[in-house]
Amino acid sequence: MPPSQTPHKILLSESDQPTRWYNVLHDLPTPPPPVLHPGTGQPVGPEDLAPLFPMDLILQEVSGEQYVEIPGEVLDVYRLWRPSPLFRATRLEQALGTPARIYYKYEGVSPAGSHKPNTAVPQAYYNAKAGIKKLTTETGAGQWGTALAFACAQYDLECEVWQVRASYDQKPYRKTMIETFGGTVHPSPSDLTNAGRTILAQDPHSTGSLGIAISEAVEMAAGDPGTNYALGSVLNHVLMHQTVIGEEALLQLAMVGETPDLLVGCTGGGSNFGGLAFPFLRERWAGTMSPTIRAVEPASCPSLTQGTYAYDFGDTLGMTPLMKMHTLGHDFVPDPIHAGGLRYHGMSPLISHLYATGELEAVAKKQSECFAAGVLFARTEGILPAPEPTHALAAAVEEALACKESGEEKVILTALCGHGHLDLAAYDAYLRGDLVDHTWDDVELQQAVAAALERLPVVSG
Ligand SMILES: *Cc1c(COP(=O)(O)O)cnc(C)c1O
Repeated sequence: MPPSQTPHKILLSESDQPTRWYNVLHDLPTPPPPVLHPGTGQPVGPEDLAPLFPMDLILQEVSGEQYVEIPGEVLDVYRLWRPSPLFRATRLEQALGTPARIYYKYEGVSPAGSHKPNTAVPQAYYNAKAGIKKLTTETGAGQWGTALAFACAQYDLECEVWQVRASYDQKPYRKTMIETFGGTVHPSPSDLTNAGRTILAQDPHSTGSLGIAISEAVEMAAGDPGTNYALGSVLNHVLMHQTVIGEEALLQLAMVGETPDLLVGCTGGGSNFGGLAFPFLRERWAGTMSPTIRAVEPASCPSLTQGTYAYDFGDTLGMTPLMKMHTLGHDFVPDPIHAGGLRYHGMSPLISHLYATGELEAVAKKQSECFAAGVLFARTEGILPAPEPTHALAAAVEEALACKESGEEKVILTALCGHGHLDLAAYDAYLRGDLVDHTWDDVELQQAVAAALERLPVVSG
């Protein structure tokens, strides 16, 4: 069909819903470096992870199978909102006057309003199946805590969430939503854990970070055999669960006869980006298409573009195994920007490996440019995006405007990974002109990163 006649909304029927997750590990041209035990410097084994995760998820973390079947009990819950719609952003294209065609896969239709339930649901399912009674976790913007609380409610699990202090104060309605789904929430750092008390002793007014909240949630889970920990991003199994986004998008683009030239996605820990990109990478490796794939990160937390590729802890207190990733240093505390979901010091080892091997590109964007794109998107497409995907939208707009200059009819695909209905305080700040890009200037940021990188763990062996 001619591109001008592409329908605005491209829907996949339930019977065409993908029934397996894609495991990119199987197809990687070179294997990623192993995860190391912090004490011994040796690769971790399944037994090292068993205090925190159920065996089904540990096996998925290291699986070499190309596909993993999605359990029927998980598909049943997915069907509450999946398959999600793919939209062509025709009204945004018109406003930009671009010959580019922009498509967005909308994950805001989920119970939490973001892509996070795609992994929260299977994680809760496998934990319940293993006889676990309670899950602990961290949350940045509150999206992951909401998703996990919802997922736990599906399988009769308790859910306890440590929410980064900055967003706990900025986004009080996230707490209400988590509690409505049956979870409990604490601001982090809290005085409930050794990790939290350590940080509060150093800085009683700490605004927190994802790394600190992870330390608190891990500590609580490690101390109780009936309690496990769930991570909302970064890990291989999380990115694998998110591939339902890319698999559906592939089918939907095929329905309208399109192949993308460019994929853009926002990256906090890398899960919505990986979930969108991995099935397209598989196609690129198979030679069926050749899209450029670009990660977009916040300028104030630029792990890919300004971090270093090294072994580091996943949390601030140094309780997790060591992962080789692009990192700003585990005790780097980013500016309290509104895109709380992108405030993580590290990057998924899979995304880091693909970036280091030249399979992916990365750019960093300041939040004022992102909110400008978010507002334009809201006014044209009618969806108010979460602050995180406005980073991807800013990059899509940038590319679409470049196409206007060059006359190229590029096909751009992005994941609109969440709506921003609980982020209105951030929009309010932007609309009133109160939004600052950084509290640090570029030099101060580089100095803070350099200082944090000096405290990277020394890896023996
Ligand atoms: C959590 C979150 C992110 C960041 O996490 P990724 O793992 O990088 O996807 C981005 N957008 C939204 C809406 C989120 O909830």
